[in-house]
Amino acid sequence: MKINLDLHTHTVYSHGKGTIEENAVSAKEKGLYGIAITDHGFSHPAFGMRRKKVAKMRRECDLAEQKTGVKVLLGIESNIRGRDGTIDVKPSDYENLDVVLAGVHKFIFYKTVGDFGKLLLKNMLHDKFKIKASDKLIKYNTECYVNAVKNNPIDVLTHVGFGCVCDAVEVAKACADYGTLFEISTKKTHLTDEEWQKVIETGVNFVVDSDAHSVDRIGDTALACELFKRVNFPIDRIKNIDGQIPTLRFTEFKQKHGIK
Ligand SMILES: [Zn+2]
Ligand SMILES: [Zn+2]
Repeated sequence: MKINLDLHTHTVYSHGKGTIEENAVSAKEKGLYGIAITDHGFSHPAFGMRRKKVAKMRRECDLAEQKTGVKVLLGIESNIRGRDGTIDVKPSDYENLDVVLAGVHKFIFYKTVGDFGKLLLKNMLHDKFKIKASDKLIKYNTECYVNAVKNNPIDVLTHVGFGCVCDAVEVAKACADYGTLFEISTKKTHLTDEEWQKVIETGVNFVVDSDAHSVDRIGDTALACELFKRVNFPIDRIKNIDGQIPTLRFTEFKQKHGIK
């Protein structure tokens, strides 16, 4: 299996180790068609991208593409900030971006105090201290994901369920309905094999992404290869491997609304 377009890579603009050009060079060495630079969203005080740096990042992407011949898209891994599905990418950011990912991350600026209590604290109690998640928490987390997909033109939901226990089937159904791709991360295992099986049955489309925070991991497929031995994925529905290039929801949204 080979990734053609690795839609999830980090650089020094958040807490990745490589520069944009170094990520692109690594992608070229590995024979990838392209990568997206998707640093963490603006509402992460420590690791988030800064809006004032976006124009510079765009220039670096264009330069890296010219130098390497590898497609270099500028994206963002936005943060889901609460139950209403708010993410930290605003419509005014759209024209500067090619790709919008979204995921749940810790220690960001949450939408409300209630969101801080659930999305951060209750999930941490479950994740770190193995306190059983209540049905209420699972329902809340599921709503965060589903509303994010409904209300924003998100290309890919990243590592669904990682540190945020949810009903992955409901989340996948929303992705299938709205044309958001469901990520198979090769950085971390985020669902059980049984959950993956049920997610496949929703008909959702997938991408395999490295979530590389260092250049050596660009295009890495190892964890997905292991998963595919245990769970029978329909390969034609994994839209960025083995010659396929995905149609991106955000690109279509921008075209439809005349955003350059
Ligand atoms: Zn992430
Ligand atoms: Zn990431």
